[in-house]
Amino acid sequence: MPFAPKPNTALLIVGHGSTENPDSSTPYFDHAAEIRKRNIFAEVHVCFWKEEPSMREALFMIDAPEVYIVPDFISEGYFTQDVIPRELGLDGPTTQRDGKTLHYCLPVGVHSSMTGLILKRAKEVAPEADPADTTLIITGHGTGLNQNSTKAIKDQADLIAASGAGYALVTDAYMEEQPFIADWDKMADTKNVVVVPFFISDGLHSYQDIPVMLGLESEVGPAASQTDVFRHNPNLLRGKNLYYSSAIGTEPLMADVILDQVADFDTKHNPAPPTPVDAETLPALLKKLIRSGVRQIGQIEIQRDLCEFSYALHHIDDEDFATQPAYGGLDHYHGPDMARDISTYAEDGEYRFTKGKINLKRGWIMTLDNETELLRALDHFYPACTALFIRHQDGSLPIEDLREKLARQTGMYRFARSISDAGAQELVRKVCGPAHNCAKKILWKLDENTPLEDNEASRFNGIAGNAPENETIPLVCREACNHFVAECRKAAKAEFDAKAAATA
Ligand code: SF4
Repeated sequence: MPFAPKPNTALLIVGHGSTENPDSSTPYFDHAAEIRKRNIFAEVHVCFWKEEPSMREALFMIDAPEVYIVPDFISEGYFTQDVIPRELGLDGPTTQRDGKTLHYCLPVGVHSSMTGLILKRAKEVAPEADPADTTLIITGHGTGLNQNSTKAIKDQADLIAASGAGYALVTDAYMEEQPFIADWDKMADTKNVVVVPFFISDGLHSYQDIPVMLGLESEVGPAASQTDVFRHNPNLLRGKNLYYSSAIGTEPLMADVILDQVADFDTKHNPAPPTPVDAETLPALLKKLIRSGVRQIGQIEIQRDLCEFSYALHHIDDEDFATQPAYGGLDHYHGPDMARDISTYAEDGEYRFTKGKINLKRGWIMTLDNETELLRALDHFYPACTALFIRHQDGSLPIEDLREKLARQTGMYRFARSISDAGAQELVRKVCGPAHNCAKKILWKLDENTPLEDNEASRFNGIAGNAPENETIPLVCREACNHFVAECRKAAKAEFDAKAAATA
């Protein structure tokens, strides 16, 4: 059914993201791109728990007065019930916050239309397998953090079993709780077994961990974008034909499920239409900045009069190529969409999950038609940084001190909270600033009363290269990044071990 346009409204898709696997966030960007193409919302954004932009920073990127927030998660659970509401400051289905109306939708994985997607995926991966001689296993993570995390998978297995699809058996299995996916062959009496991972992305779990548990791989392999295990179906293994599909969230029709959740929210809560706001938008403010002479952000040069397009972006070290005919052989992209691909890996193949890192790839030029496209490209290269700088300039950017950030860490990162002040000050010297390849200017303190000690890293101005300050958008760090938090955890553990050794 066509979706009625919401011209004063933004859509914010929330994902988990990963500091290790660049493929984890790909489906979220794909879903956002697909929905953006349909011109339903004034803005479509994504944000993450483990990647940039963070949930806390994403709202600064949004101009629209009304925001639908859709967790692109496969189930209700710890993240959708605890982490996302806490990070976005939500207090119910609809929250009024900082002049915006925020609607919190249910996660995509619990929508009834997921059943059709699983069946479609199972058929695609094993078109020749007779359902009557096939066991369909829907597999997920399983976790002790919240019992609801397995409910969506069990529900889907029950729905498909009752759907008349004809499978000999439809069942659920997990990585970390019973029934274990590693025992897939013991669950099935049939010749064929189809395993559909109930994950959003082909990240660490579905692409690297589960293939080992199934016996498809002997050890954890590279990320999905660098190999392709899904091409080899069927796999003759343990006396059966095993078909393994890519994660259900990579299905292009997931964009429709996101829209289904927005439509369901409207049906259930019938929110009043938003009142348009009469304020300067971020693209308009960015235009003003550029008209005032700003021409650099991070390692990117923003050109205005280089070519027939409104703007051109390139690496600051590629200016000599960019000004030659045919851009001196630089790879030319028109429009902002390739910005994510360019910024994902460094020249040496390193995954750049911290986008402030001074290792942006060279050799490309991107032309853009207007400030909206320019902002979208910059938000891929340096997520939320333009909006954060604009808010910082007008004095309205809230800063989050390190202790607040560490207090919100969960799971294995909880241990980071115990780092000493001296240990944290030392980490700033070791992890931040250009000497350690970070181009961000730190705005935070350890806590309200404890500023950072004066050193090269804490003093750094957020500007890569030698551009004059008034011609640059400095990259600001309003909260410690996930890389810094991970380093805090390691340092806190080292402090703990040293104390234990000293008292032994
Ligand atoms: S915490 Fe340090 S390393 Fe991380 S983004 Fe901020 S300045 Fe860079």
